[in-house]
This record gives sequence, structure tokens and C-alpha cells, in this order.
Amino acid sequence: MDRYSRPVRGLRISVTSACDLRCFFCHGEGLEDKSGELMTPEEIERIVRVAMELGVDSVKLTGGEPMMRSDILEIVSRLNGLGLRDLSMTTNGFRFAEMARDLRMHGLKRVNISLHSTRPDRYAMITGLDLVEAARRHSQVLEAVRAAVEAGLNPVKLNVVILRGINDDELDDLIRLAEELSSSSEIVVQLIELVGCGLAAGKGLEHHYLPLSGLEERVARMAVAGITRSLHYRSRYQMPNGVWIEFVRPSGNHLFCMNDTRLRITHDGRFKPCLMRSDNEVEFLTAMRSGASDEELKRLFLRAVEAREPFWKPPIKEGKVRWSVGEK
Ligand code: SAM
Repeated sequence: MDRYSRPVRGLRISVTSACDLRCFFCHGEGLEDKSGELMTPEEIERIVRVAMELGVDSVKLTGGEPMMRSDILEIVSRLNGLGLRDLSMTTNGFRFAEMARDLRMHGLKRVNISLHSTRPDRYAMITGLDLVEAARRHSQVLEAVRAAVEAGLNPVKLNVVILRGINDDELDDLIRLAEELSSSSEIVVQLIELVGCGLAAGKGLEHHYLPLSGLEERVARMAVAGITRSLHYRSRYQMPNGVWIEFVRPSGNHLFCMNDTRLRITHDGRFKPCLMRSDNEVEFLTAMRSGASDEELKRLFLRAVEAREPFWKPPIKEGKVRWSVGEK
């Protein structure tokens, strides 16, 4: 539990900073540079085991592009062996179609696949690939989604960062595409608000930022069912064709931050308490490599939990009122 009564239940672990795509808006999970030593599968397993002893029960693997790690199956398998409640990955689809079954067999439960446009020409503009390569890669991503569904990963989420003037007119196409791709698994289209932190900071992305309130209102009017998730207080709506649409709307949203239960880990072994900041990270890999005990690693983990602070806070005067999440 942090100082705002937020439990830490999940780890979002970047297993590499390398990526085969160059999405122009990429925040690189809040990192400002991509250097640093990579954690080994054993080190990733150890830090997760230690965190589990303090209440963590879910892990999402990210990057860079996690599928660029040649030992990704070993990482998944080791984490699965720890008995996590949830083990998932976010990927751009690289090598995913051919490995979906193996990943499932080694313990991956669900996957988010980034597909920022239904159209290959826009996908080219977003990812920095030339048109021919973008068309090939785009169909590879669709294959990845089909393979994920066939392998029984559930739900399969399509991550779409909404970019004003580029892909903000694709809602209907996304709903249709998701219906086409789904069969046994639930497909959730996850619409993500653009944030300008980490590698994306200072890139002049403001004109592509679109607050998602308008799109959400439109989706809500079409919905036949809806839920508010406890994580980030995110809304999810079901469309008449069965497809779910989820909104990730962090900007200026204290409900998002107050309902955040995840701590980040960087590829080079640092706890990162907030996507938006780099000044409160806690490094643990050096300690681990110099023979730190599990108890010492737990202390570093708890130091990072202690440093957690909602980036967007409730609209109250700092220091005057204690504010926490919970029942009343
Ligand atoms: N390479 C993997 C992928 O593409 O899913 C994992 C890493 S990527 C940084 C993780 C997620 O963050 C992706 O869905 C990506 O679209 C999203 N993302 C990247 N930059 C973002 C930004 N500036 N604002 C919001 N989401 C962003």
C-alpha cells in the first residue's frame, strides 16, 4: 500500500528497450534513453518472486518490443512457474503469429497487440516504415491477432493510440475489424490517449493530442452494456456486434491515477513509480548483482512504493486534506 492507500498489485516490466518499429509518438514507457544493462530471465524471475511476497500477483511484459528478446519464452515460463494470477504482454506483433501457441503453452494468459491504424498507408506514417514494408508488417499484425485468438489468449486487446488528424476517424473501421478477427476470444479495442512523456517529451506532439471525451460519448451512445474497471477507473463499453471498447484516459485524470495499482520496472533494473516522472526511480539491479538478499530487495521495492504519488491529484489543496482510495 502506498501513501495514498493504493495497493501495488501489478508489475509492468520492460524486458528490452530495443524495438523494430519507430512509432513517432512512442514514449518508450517513460524512459528518456534506451541504454543500460538488460536483466536476465533469472533476474526478472527473482524480482517478481520478491514482489509477490509483498502482494503483487500480476505482470505485464512490455518494451521496447518484448518479442525482440530471443529468450522471451524462458522469461514467460519462469514467471508462470511463480503462480501469478495474471501474466500478459503488450507487443507490436513482431514474431508473434508464429510464437503465440508456444507463449500460451509457457503460461502467457492474454495479450495486447498494438495496431494504430486499420490502414497500411497510415500505419507506414506512424511506424516510420516505407509503404511496402508497412503493408507487409500490417498484415503480420493482423495474423498475430488471429494467432493469439486461435492460441486461446483471452482477451486479445487491440491497442490504438488516438492521434488527431491521423487515425481519429477510424472508430467504425476498428469495430468492424475487431468483429472480423474475433471468434472464441473476446476482442477489446483499447483506445489510448496520447501522452507526451519519456522519449515522446519535447517532440511537439501537441497537435496530435486528442482528449478522448468526445469519442467516449459517441461510443457510450452506441453501447449495449458497459463496465467501469477498478484499474484506472477505466470505462469499457460493448458494441451491438459484441466488440468491447475500452478507454485509457490518463491526461489530467485523478481517478486514473488514484486507481493505479501498478509499478513499472525498466529493462535495466529500476523500479519506476510513475510513467510521467524519472526523478523517483529506485535502482535494484546493481544491488542484486552484488549479492543483495531477498530482504534487501524487498526494502528497495518498498522504497519505490513509498515514492509513489499520483501524477494527477484530486482537486484539493496539497497538504491540507488526506486523500486516499477505498470504501466509505
Ligand atoms: N512494442 C510494444 C507495443 O508496441 O505494444 C510494447 C511497448 S509500447 C511502448 C506499449 C504501449 O504504449 C503501446 O500500446 C503503445 O502504443 C503505447 N504508447 C507508446 N507511446 C505512447 C504515447 N506517447 N502515448 C500513449 N501511449 C503510448
